[in-house]
Amino acid sequence: MIRLKLFGFPIQIHKFFWLLCLTIGFSRFISGDTELIMIPVLVVIVFITMLWHELGHAFARRKYGVDSKIVLGDLSTIGGAVSGFCAGEANFTKRQVVKVAMTGPLYNLIIVALVFPLKYTPLLEYPHAEPMWELVWLSNLAWAIFNIAPVLPLDGGQIYRVARIGRGPLIVPLVGLLLSILIAILGAITGRYFATVLFGIFIYQNWMIIRKKQYLTY
Ligand SMILES: [Zn+2]
Repeated sequence: MIRLKLFGFPIQIHKFFWLLCLTIGFSRFISGDTELIMIPVLVVIVFITMLWHELGHAFARRKYGVDSKIVLGDLSTIGGAVSGFCAGEANFTKRQVVKVAMTGPLYNLIIVALVFPLKYTPLLEYPHAEPMWELVWLSNLAWAIFNIAPVLPLDGGQIYRVARIGRGPLIVPLVGLLLSILIAILGAITGRYFATVLFGIFIYQNWMIIRKKQYLTY
């Protein structure tokens, strides 16, 4: 496990995280979207994309007076960090939960807005520069979209969870389970194996939430 500190936030990167990044690289290579030479570049881009996303959450939490630890690729907890999560004791209001959840995808969309226009500048003459910048905005866009899916433990799932407090919370992991099955199958059919791996884990996590009736504590 790698440990570091950034902007005052302790960061833990588990081995599974690198495996996840490699799965993204290889599934893009297999589907013909990326050259083999670009896989290490893609791993770095995915790492920065996900870390940046979690930093968004961490900064939002800090604004509400809660310090956070960023954990990438920890499989040890149900509903915990597959790709990443921002931990720390907090007693947020519903509104604050929604704001903290939205800040992660928002940070990714800021990168998309900054990098996408580079496509139309003459700066990108170098052969691998264009695919690299493409990967930066694509990776950020994909991570923002993935995360707003109403699937626990993603950000969309967190927002859906607080929206359902007191109104039949079982529906949240049920929707998460069904959507995860659908996305995992679509990923396998279209060669996006990363989505299959990630949402395969979410199938398990949502199923465990239903079985252990964790939704009752919401
Ligand atoms: Zn997030």
